[in-house]
Amino acid sequence: MFLFFFFVLLLMTTSENDAAERIQAFVIPHSHMDVGWVYTVKESMHAYASNVYSSVVEELSRVKSRKFIAVEQEFFRLWWVNVASDWHKKQVKQLLQEGRLEFIIGGQVMHDEAVTDVDDAILQLTEGHGFLYETFGVRPRFSWHVDPFGASATTPVLFALAGFNAHLISRIDYDLKDVMQKNKKLQFVWRGSASLLEKQEIFTHTMDQFSYCTPSYLPFSNRSGFYWNGVALFPDPPKDGIYPNMSLPTMVDNIKQRAQWFKTSHVLWPWGCDKQFYNASVQFMNMDVMVNYINTHSDKYGVAVQYATLGDYFQAVHQTNLSWDVRGSKDFLPYSTESFQAWTGFYGSRDVLKGIARRASSLLHAAESLFTRYSISYPDGPVPREWALEKLKPCVGLSQRYILSVQHHDGITGTESPKVADMYMQHLMQGMMGAEELLAAIFLLPHSLEHSNNIHPPQTRPIVEKKDVLEQHVIVYNPLAWNISSYINVSVSYAMAVVLDDDGKPVPAQIQQSATNSSGYDLFFVVELGGLQYRKYLVQFPQSHCGSGSACRKTHVARIVKFKRKYLSHWKSTGRKLLPVLNECYKLMFDQETNLLHSITDRHEKRSILVQQDFCEYEANGDVNAGPISDNYIFTANGSAVLAYKSVAMEIVPGKVVSEIRQYFYRNEDDKNHTYSVVTRVPVGFQGKLACHRLEQSYKVGPLEVNRETVFRTSTSLQNNRTLFTDNNGYQMMRRTYKNFVNNTVARNYYPVVRAAYIEDDSCRVAFLTERAHGVASLSQGQFEVMLHRCLWNNQEWNLGYNLTLNDSSVVRPILWMILGSPAAVSSIYQQEALELQHRPVVMPIDKPQKLWIQKGKSIQPFDQPVVLPQNLHMQTLSIPGWNYSPNHTRQLQNLGSGGDKHFKINFDRILLRVTHLYEEGEDPVLSKPTTINLKEVMQGIGEVTKVMERSLTGTWDISDLQRWSWKTNTGVGKTVSGMTKDFNVTIFPKEIRTFFIYFK
Ligand SMILES: [Zn+2]
Repeated sequence: MFLFFFFVLLLMTTSENDAAERIQAFVIPHSHMDVGWVYTVKESMHAYASNVYSSVVEELSRVKSRKFIAVEQEFFRLWWVNVASDWHKKQVKQLLQEGRLEFIIGGQVMHDEAVTDVDDAILQLTEGHGFLYETFGVRPRFSWHVDPFGASATTPVLFALAGFNAHLISRIDYDLKDVMQKNKKLQFVWRGSASLLEKQEIFTHTMDQFSYCTPSYLPFSNRSGFYWNGVALFPDPPKDGIYPNMSLPTMVDNIKQRAQWFKTSHVLWPWGCDKQFYNASVQFMNMDVMVNYINTHSDKYGVAVQYATLGDYFQAVHQTNLSWDVRGSKDFLPYSTESFQAWTGFYGSRDVLKGIARRASSLLHAAESLFTRYSISYPDGPVPREWALEKLKPCVGLSQRYILSVQHHDGITGTESPKVADMYMQHLMQGMMGAEELLAAIFLLPHSLEHSNNIHPPQTRPIVEKKDVLEQHVIVYNPLAWNISSYINVSVSYAMAVVLDDDGKPVPAQIQQSATNSSGYDLFFVVELGGLQYRKYLVQFPQSHCGSGSACRKTHVARIVKFKRKYLSHWKSTGRKLLPVLNECYKLMFDQETNLLHSITDRHEKRSILVQQDFCEYEANGDVNAGPISDNYIFTANGSAVLAYKSVAMEIVPGKVVSEIRQYFYRNEDDKNHTYSVVTRVPVGFQGKLACHRLEQSYKVGPLEVNRETVFRTSTSLQNNRTLFTDNNGYQMMRRTYKNFVNNTVARNYYPVVRAAYIEDDSCRVAFLTERAHGVASLSQGQFEVMLHRCLWNNQEWNLGYNLTLNDSSVVRPILWMILGSPAAVSSIYQQEALELQHRPVVMPIDKPQKLWIQKGKSIQPFDQPVVLPQNLHMQTLSIPGWNYSPNHTRQLQNLGSGGDKHFKINFDRILLRVTHLYEEGEDPVLSKPTTINLKEVMQGIGEVTKVMERSLTGTWDISDLQRWSWKTNTGVGKTVSGMTKDFNVTIFPKEIRTFFIYFK
């Protein structure tokens, strides 16, 4: 054995162990496989991912002691469906049974934790778990979040709800890790939710400073680490007996060093790194020798080594029955690797991709709920169910769910190479097209499907003179299980339009020249929709003058009032000539001296605050020789952001549905074209309805000059002391107090926002709701800034080599809703509003404007009963997952045992319902209360419920069978409270996420 020589050296250099307790090292073989980062999924499969599973399965089958953990399901499934031979498949099942191959996490990807929405994180986990349970009867129990850039407090909650026994994280702030390591505090019990507390606590292991890669600095591993991957099996020993790349092996020393950082004598020794084990035979063959050698000299070293799965390691730690510190609902964001390496840039990298990813998942959400309704009402209807499910789960010869894989930590984060970003965009577009096709198919249902009680009286038409009229039908679907009243915007090419609802009644509408398209028009109209209901609206375009007909009066033709461009250099005394824009909730004042917002009055509370909004820019450094840089991941500010304009023009469009304020910002005083714009929409005419609280702002930013990072800054008179509240994945809020650092203070005070952020003082709160993730900060008193776009280039070799410089020349158009009021008033509505922004009504014109022919028949409204939940509960999921596993675990194992590789049939009868309580304990006097609903009643609009089973988060466990390990804490043993349903009544407590299988008659 060639390695013998080298172990002689090992023997001599390692000091003898004097500790009483022998250290047990768990060598966990793994391969970190990014589902798209520098290379596309396809390229990665070809280059290594496929070989990882083939060769690992072969090597494990060869030697009994070897083990491996499989993490991302995306690659495993691709391999399983397209590559694995029958022999491989048989071996996989055998290895799983022996506990030598272990599925960890089980999601399609290792999702990002900072910029992912909680719903998307759950979906991708559900998808992976469904596959594993259907195929193997396996339910993962451990997490391995080794690479996400910072750790959210929502993730441990989700993993606890999914039935995990332990959680693992790695990338946390370097200072903090240092302290935790020194004090043996890397392991703790995490109560990620402030409301769920010990009910969903989970033991959490933080990887030590070596993180998930086998140490590569070790002298032995100058070239190949402990991987031996790609290096031919060792050549003939050189004459002097010393190998060029093998000086002193220090595995034992390394194990001993790490043992000092933990309370128990167990050391988790991850063996692997990115793209490892594609040549598993070489890796294992060498490590076998190493492991055997150390073990035969175990007494001498005081160290024993074994191949292990993650489960083996956690089991050993759990068995020590030690007591652990408790961590509350605090996350590990932001994340820095050193003082000038703040990973806060990616919160704003690739804004377009972040926006499309969220739009795609809300479209998927809409299509799933509508299809579920359809499938229950018309199981044999003309829209084939198999076809429909295919549209929701698009395949490329395999079950790769397009919309989900972008949640990967190099996907939605925007940290991938341009070609991988293109791959994600293409996948998302295809996924959205599928969802749209399905929605259209259901919207266009033939009339014969109507129930007799759905037939409405013939419409009283025409309203406008027939002969000159073109008409178009628009379907509007409300994907939320709440009744809503809102306005929608349809782009049209005519200057006048009348809108009729499905009863033929004209609805309030407004038309005006478009803010974004100079030759087109924006038609706004008011929609009132029940939960999970759609309505058909008829838009008529009168070609001649509209006359004094009553219907035309329902459409307000809004005129644009233009204001002269104002120059920053001419500002004298601001705040004297103010122009009000009012609605039922607010009075906005615009300063005619500057064309900027000046103040907002909350008319209900009769309280005014000063508000100014500007576009500012950070100028980034791209020369590594000149100082720290900004890139895909990292944000480095050279000082404060500076105003990015010299003059501002303004237009105001007073309306009867919505009043619009359009502001155009010019980089130079007399530039012909503006650099930035913001359109603020103030809803009017919504007396007493929630919608009047929403101030919608849509921005146009880009293309940027290179090495600019653009922020939109709202400066208010609030006394917030630079304290900011931002959400963790849209699930819960985190308080962010301003921190001073020796270096890099601006960047290290940036935080991600996914759905909501706010600043407040004793009397007022200003909340900002988003439809895509951004980076935000409060760097001065009363200030809130949001990074909207980044365009960067740098000359760092590594960045250039991988094409990761973020040279993003796109134009981005993000939207923010601003809500303002007393802290209590805003607190009671902003969660729901954030969801209304995420799940805006789906607007689908189903034909082109055409001449009015004969009456086209009766109006269609196939789902005439709304599905409505109380205001504090959100219907997170209503879908047909299609998995065909038995909900009874024993039976599922029996079926798998007897069925072999039988083809699974899609199960259309099992509906997955997920309901979440939006409020924290004590957040609102009424809405925070536990809320009881009767599932039979709630679902009545869909069909008659015959059976309900409560399940774990991803559906694979019957909740009454689910027992998670309890870990002793210094505050007592945590207890699991399982929610039971009785007569279909369910009481949902603050912040609970409850998952059910529902069966209909
Ligand atoms: Zn990664």
